[in-house]
Amino acid sequence: TTTLLESDFYRFQEGLTDQERESLGRLRAYLESEVRPIADEYWARAEFPMQVVEPLSELGMYGPGIPLVRHFENSAVYRGWAALELGRVDAGVATFIGVQSGLAMNSIAVAGSEAQQQEWLPRMASGELVGAFGLTEPLSGSDSARGLRTTARREGDEWVLDGEKRWIGNATFADVVVIWAKDIADGQVKGFLVTTDTPGFTATKIEDKIALRSVQNADIVMTGVRVPEQRRLQRAESFRTTAEVLRLTRTEVAWQAIGIAIGAYEAALDYARNRIQFGKPIAAHQLVQDRLVQSLGNITASIALCTQASAMQDASTGGDEHSAMAKAFATAKMRETVAWCREVQGGNGIVLDKGVARFFADAEAIYSYEGTREVNTLIVGRAITGQAAFV
Ligand code: FAD
Repeated sequence: TTTLLESDFYRFQEGLTDQERESLGRLRAYLESEVRPIADEYWARAEFPMQVVEPLSELGMYGPGIPLVRHFENSAVYRGWAALELGRVDAGVATFIGVQSGLAMNSIAVAGSEAQQQEWLPRMASGELVGAFGLTEPLSGSDSARGLRTTARREGDEWVLDGEKRWIGNATFADVVVIWAKDIADGQVKGFLVTTDTPGFTATKIEDKIALRSVQNADIVMTGVRVPEQRRLQRAESFRTTAEVLRLTRTEVAWQAIGIAIGAYEAALDYARNRIQFGKPIAAHQLVQDRLVQSLGNITASIALCTQASAMQDASTGGDEHSAMAKAFATAKMRETVAWCREVQGGNGIVLDKGVARFFADAEAIYSYEGTREVNTLIVGRAITGQAAFV
């Protein structure tokens, strides 16, 4: 189980501990035997394979970086590789974990009180409870730092939430959604743990997506939703808290994007070795080799950048701009790579069963979520020029 990934051309995985490599080997074996065979089918039906929820918990995928629930001492670099291994097989399952573990559990770990962490995190780590993260709204995407319209109004020991959210992953079957809303008294963004059975709360699946079809994204409507004060994330002070969560998750999304590029690259390489044109495998034609080598170059450069971004996270020296650069760079390179890999497969490249098409389509969603390339570019731009150019 300790074999290194072949597409890790510069053998970066050698920098992991034995335990980290073994854990990745177990994850890879599970994904190859249980997830790869069903991924296209669930994607085509736009359904989420619920049978993965429990095994992925046993593999330690929910909250691996959170001391209260983690299976063993590990690094952000290891967690990046886990996101890569997931993306390499199924970006839908990778996104489910990105929401459950990265966004929902990290929100509670970063902004919840000790008691809130004890109450929610172990049950989410075991997969008993599924979480979601509600920031984006129909009228507020990139500008959610300033543009949130969902309101929170305090009434005695309760809060009353009103508003709408859009794109919220896992929300059709989640037990709890972290809702970010503006307190009408002080104008600050606060976080609330809203259970999905609360009166006034509805989540409706967004249909007909052309990317990440197995992920269940929802439009949420909240009308007079009452939440007790003890379900307000006690340490969430302002939008700064949300940004802190996103700083952690954006680097992991970057790793996930590398996994998607690798998934497409491996399918293209396999196809190129077997497809005969002009009397020889297309892998023997110079221009096809160029596409494959450039793809591997993109993958390798992204691994190098993300390894350092995660190492800085481990050392607490990484800023918002470092995860923003990782996300913008790795997703841009992913998008270029999946298109080349699709091209290598010719016409067959648009059919799911040849192994590239799903990655090609899913890449579009990953390119835009957790901050578009433009927004992440502006975060880096602000850091290097001292000028905020968002507005
Ligand atoms: P907009 O903000 O409307 O942007 C449209 C375009 O304008 C983009 O190209 C953008 O880069 C550009 N733009 C905007 N402002 C500027 C500017 N100042 N300068 C230059 N260009 C600009 N959100 C959640 O809260 N929870 C989730 O679980 C979740 N899951 C998602 C899953 C999927 C599959 C998708 C597609 C989205 C998900 N999102 C989720 C929302 C996601 O984070 C937003 O889609 C993203 O932040 C972009 O917002 P938007 O789609 O409203 O685009």
